[in-house]
Amino acid sequence: MSTIAENVASIREKMAEAAKQAGRDPESIRLCAATKMNDAAAVREAIAAGVDCCGENRVQEIQEKRPQGAYEGKPLHFIGHLQTNKVKYIVGVVDLIESVDRLELLECIEKQAAKIGVTQDVLFEVNIGAEESKSGFTPEEAAQLAAKMGEYPHVRLHGLMAIPPVSEKPGDNCRYFAEMRNLFVDISAKKYDNVSMDCLSMGMSGDYPDAIREGATLVRVGTAIFGARNYNKV
Ligand SMILES: *Cc1c(COP(=O)(O)O)cnc(C)c1O
Repeated sequence: MSTIAENVASIREKMAEAAKQAGRDPESIRLCAATKMNDAAAVREAIAAGVDCCGENRVQEIQEKRPQGAYEGKPLHFIGHLQTNKVKYIVGVVDLIESVDRLELLECIEKQAAKIGVTQDVLFEVNIGAEESKSGFTPEEAAQLAAKMGEYPHVRLHGLMAIPPVSEKPGDNCRYFAEMRNLFVDISAKKYDNVSMDCLSMGMSGDYPDAIREGATLVRVGTAIFGARNYNKV
């Protein structure tokens, strides 16, 4: 077995264990490979090893790897900061934009989706740690905007995504994950137009078991699948 396949198998075991601890069905939690800075061959290996989807951060990487068949057979998510001038390269190309972090971006996605006649699935990114350095809605903003999704007929809101602060020790982020879970449940209960809350994306290499115990339905894992990223390479 390749290293990537071994890593995916071991992550799956830990995911199942965390799910069981929380009394959840392991089948209800998906594994997204965070593929930034990994080449098409590595991405294909992860897909062969059984990840459920891929998440890319940069438009340019999608444009390089997609023609090489990197994501074939699995959904592709956009998980990075998306500039409005690049929206046209992403809408209708990726299955889910997880990182809708501001009103201007939502409006731009609506416009582009209407123009090419598609409905774009999205998540709202919530800046749950209220960090200066991170983009994202406050929980209040996310809840208010979810109520207005009827005004964006070419966008469908499927849930929430969060990147909590870098944790110092295991368990540190549990309270943020729990806050996300509460927000997710609150919005779900409202049954707004153009909203079907079926995805709570949280948890990365360092904390995905905690995220699952607190209710994540999708975890985004990079380093634990591919090893440390080489930032000098790209
Ligand atoms: C890189 C990245 C991840 C994965 O991070 P790891 O710590 O390598 O698992 C998850 N989500 C987003 C948005 C990322 O940019």
